[in-house]
Amino acid sequence: EKIMDIKNLHSKVEDAEILKGLNLKINKGEIHVIMGPNGAGKSTLANVLMGHPKHEITDGEIIFNDKNINDLSVDKRAKEGLFLSFQYPEEIPGVTVENFLRTSKSAITDEKQGIFAFRKVLKEKMELLEMDETYAGRYLNQGFSGGEKKKNEILQMTILEPKLAILDETDSGLDIDAIRIVSKGVKAYSNDENAILVITHYNKILDYLEPDYVHVLVDGKIVKTGGAELADKIEQKGYEEFKKDLS
Ligand code: ADP
Ligand code: MG
Ligand code: MG
Repeated sequence: EKIMDIKNLHSKVEDAEILKGLNLKINKGEIHVIMGPNGAGKSTLANVLMGHPKHEITDGEIIFNDKNINDLSVDKRAKEGLFLSFQYPEEIPGVTVENFLRTSKSAITDEKQGIFAFRKVLKEKMELLEMDETYAGRYLNQGFSGGEKKKNEILQMTILEPKLAILDETDSGLDIDAIRIVSKGVKAYSNDENAILVITHYNKILDYLEPDYVHVLVDGKIVKTGGAELADKIEQKGYEEFKKDLS
């Protein structure tokens, strides 16, 4: 069953065309990986899907849950079940992790989250990610190590329970143990009712994630789709041959 259908997507940022006719279908239960050279448009795709106001859709369609969401605001997309984890999470002084997550959950579900019930759920999810309980009381991302910030993003995903989670380089800058824990968290979140789109430069995360599809994004388009073997090939040979295909 289809969860997202991206058709001939074109986008512009500050007068530059970045996405140039991108097509991608994602079904429930699937894990997709996007790889590609620097500047190819991977983060742009994530931002356009989430509705970042700096990016303009100039052609094509984003169908999510059978609806065209091209003109939906970021918060409406989140309510529909879209989630984007950022490459560089922001620090928010004065707001604790627990309060931030509880407020976000209330906003997305339109249901008040009881403090004690929420705390119990939060504790369970944090244990899964091997996060110390004390993080819940710390100010969001302030003084967090790179690994802690990334884990916090995954924690946010497991709390908000999106239908489609987009993770933009959540594995960048993580040590081997943190990559394992983060990918295990993502894998554990994956089920028959949701889907995950992972943007990455590294093969390590794929060992744990066991993706259904690997896509290569070059110059604003998906130029090749395969399985995990495609990632191995890229690790050995780089992106040159995919770039050549374009000229
Ligand atoms: P990737 O994530 O694949 O490395 P990006 O999507 O971040 O690539 O960037 C693709 C291109 O779009 C780059 O040339 C980048 O400079 C440009 N770009 C992305 N966001 C903006 C922005 N907000 N303003 C101007 N240019 C941007
Ligand atoms: Mg790119
Ligand atoms: Mg990027």
